[in-house]
Amino acid sequence: MNELIKKVVILGGGTAGWMSAALLKKIIGSAIDIELVESDAIGPIGVGEATIPPIKIVNSVLGINESDFLKKTKGSIKLAIKFENWRVQGESYFHTFGVPGKSMAFCHFHHLVHRAQAMGHKLNIWDYDLNYLCAKEGKFAQINAKDPILDLPYAYHFDASLYAAYLRDLSEMMGVKRTEGLVKTVQQHTQTGFIKSLELEDGQRIDGDLFIDCSGFKALLIQEQLGTGFDDWSHFLPCDSAIAVPSERLEHTLPYTRSIAHASGWQWRIPLQHRNGNGLVYSSSYCSDDEAHHTLMANLDTKPLADPKVIRFRTGRRRKQWDRNVIAVGLSSGFLEPLESTSIHLIQSAIVRLARMFPHHGVNHSQIAEYNKQSKLEFEQIRDFLILHYHVNERVDSRFWRDMRNLPVPDSLTQKIELFRQNGQLFREQDDLFLETSWLQVMLGQGINPKDHHPIAGSFSEEKLFGTLASIKRIKDEPIAQLPSHDDFLKKFCRL
Ligand SMILES: Cc1cc2nc3c(=O)[nH]c(=O)nc-3n(C[C@H](O)[C@H](O)[C@H](O)COP(=O)(O)OP(=O)(O)OC[C@H]3O[C@@H](n4cnc5c(N)ncnc54)[C@H](O)[C@@H]3O)c2cc1C
Repeated sequence: MNELIKKVVILGGGTAGWMSAALLKKIIGSAIDIELVESDAIGPIGVGEATIPPIKIVNSVLGINESDFLKKTKGSIKLAIKFENWRVQGESYFHTFGVPGKSMAFCHFHHLVHRAQAMGHKLNIWDYDLNYLCAKEGKFAQINAKDPILDLPYAYHFDASLYAAYLRDLSEMMGVKRTEGLVKTVQQHTQTGFIKSLELEDGQRIDGDLFIDCSGFKALLIQEQLGTGFDDWSHFLPCDSAIAVPSERLEHTLPYTRSIAHASGWQWRIPLQHRNGNGLVYSSSYCSDDEAHHTLMANLDTKPLADPKVIRFRTGRRRKQWDRNVIAVGLSSGFLEPLESTSIHLIQSAIVRLARMFPHHGVNHSQIAEYNKQSKLEFEQIRDFLILHYHVNERVDSRFWRDMRNLPVPDSLTQKIELFRQNGQLFREQDDLFLETSWLQVMLGQGINPKDHHPIAGSFSEEKLFGTLASIKRIKDEPIAQLPSHDDFLKKFCRL
């Protein structure tokens, strides 16, 4: 439809709605008016508190002051996720945002470690990762080192409702109009099927040229109205429920998320300044809500602050995330369980993609096709990474974990695992959110040990091999002693 896009209507005021409003207003500016409709009677989902490093790009685009942001969202620093009991009970590993060792052009650092291990030396690759070393010691500060070997990439944990409120303030300051009300009916153009307007319970009519569906799992516009369809991936990732509860803060705020595997699912623990966020993700085919409730409450570190809340979900993605003049963003666009904290990132990347392709002269099919192609690939790549965690487990204590090993796996993932198992090689797929270092850590952590290393590592003399390893270790260890504890950092940085 070749009509100028002057008015964008966003339905929903959760993280997706307000992040979309803030980013679009900031990027596209005065060329569009934005109106966001949300219903206080429904409210946002209230979970979604752990992020990954690209969120810092959102903050930078929006001109957010980091100290103000951490203070107002009661946030903390996230350097990694610690996976406990995932391969076998009693063992753990970290998936950090850092780089073990240093990047090397033809032969990744882990080949050097593998060679040394093959010679009988008990080395741990994480000992060469600054993120791991800081996480383990509970330390953090921004390190502005010139040498990339000392990069310390990080993300945030924050209170979901305070985060949405923060983005709302920013959006309203930039001129986004907020309308409170419950959408009752939706009007479509008879010929094109494009959405024309939303009608609210109180009789108001909200007209728009482009609609962003941030209505959460309801998917009110993209699914209930347009019937776009859903690719169900529960045969790959069978968890379909979560039970969440906040609890009192721990004495020390850890700079990482914990993911603790239990008999039929896994528990998250997200440390914030004022409380912990906790939840258990499980499959209703293996675990009743009562059992999940019991497991979660029995494994809280501190006193609960509210009654636990059960949340149902379906894993998969909307068949077309952009259909006619509606773009689904957030939970309405699909869902992958929060194992690697990717949902808020998917909101960010959907809006960045839309901003790049913004249809100011009207929506056309080639743009829709390109947008949908890119978002499909993004969802599939994240899906494969999540499956890896479940598929390569060695737990024998429950039917859930035994079955997870035997579930079907996409061919793309099988190939990746085999390449690593046989040769120790990893290659980043086109635009994959997760770099080789992420795949490496989860593959090793889940117990896949490569049979071979790269010939370059094999060609190092013993002296050069151990000299290189020792010098990298020295460089990585050096900053730790001077860093403050994570709590001291937060106190000083946020002036608490
Ligand atoms: C168990 C669980 C844990 C998660 N953990 C993480 C995590 O750690 N990290 C991460 O990145 N993501 C996580 N997520 C995902 C994250 O919570 C969401 O991506 C994020 O909160 C965005 O949600 P949303 O804005 O799409 O939907 P919601 O928060 O559900 O918002 C929906 C909005 O639509 C409005 N609405 C709905 N119907 C109507 C109507 N008829 N009229 C008017 N308004 C309406 C509501 O008022 C509300 O404002 C998790 C999700 C789940 C289920």
